[in-house]
Amino acid sequence: MKSNLVIAIDGTSASGKSTNAKLVAKALGFVYVDTGAMYRTLAWYCLQKRVDVHDAKAVANLCRRWKTSLECVDHPVRHVRLLVDGYYPEKEIRTEETSAAVPHVAAVPKVRDWMRDKQRECIEFGNLVMEGRDIGTNVFPETDHKFYLDACINERTKRREAEGVRENLAARDERDSQRAAAPLMIALGAMVINNSQMTSSETSGIIIKEMKKRLGLQAGQPGPATAAHSVQP
Ligand code: C5P
Repeated sequence: MKSNLVIAIDGTSASGKSTNAKLVAKALGFVYVDTGAMYRTLAWYCLQKRVDVHDAKAVANLCRRWKTSLECVDHPVRHVRLLVDGYYPEKEIRTEETSAAVPHVAAVPKVRDWMRDKQRECIEFGNLVMEGRDIGTNVFPETDHKFYLDACINERTKRREAEGVRENLAARDERDSQRAAAPLMIALGAMVINNSQMTSSETSGIIIKEMKKRLGLQAGQPGPATAAHSVQP
């Protein structure tokens, strides 16, 4: 059976996970997976279906029934996305309303089980750079390649505002860190990068350099088709 690698990038909200995970995926020729987008899609779907996101049982029921599929798209970087009823709600999942709803949905244990299974299925698409809150601790705890990003709250708030989004990031981090099921935390053995004073090319550069060293690649050389410390589906 084909074995693929997983690079797990976890961290706080607006710590640069998406930007850096995409840069790493592009540099190494891996497939990028944004697990936050999957939780956001469920939160958006609950709002669409008028399911109260504070009602854990109703959310779990909807999650059990919704019709989803995974697809792998090539542009702008090779990435996986979750469709619901054949639709990818790209813009809708980034609204303030969805951002406020998502940590409630993400705290439901049955939802987390469903997401974990779905996220593990992504390994079928190739070597992965997967970002989220529990990738190194819960989704692919067996991977050897774990990174944790953080930055000071002022810097993270500024970054979100520059994207035109005003949000109480501290409140979302607190919910994500304090929930009982797979809370946000630093995975054992993760390389921690505080990028408050760094650009994204500096942050991703650290990860790319470290991964090239681990994989025995020269600078400039693309990533492996499959590799030594691999993960089975
Ligand atoms: O990364 P992003 O900000 O899009 O994530 C949105 C929310 O989804 C997080 O605040 C968290 O509640 C949830 N999430 C999670 N576990 C993940 C990814 C995201 O609980 N692996």
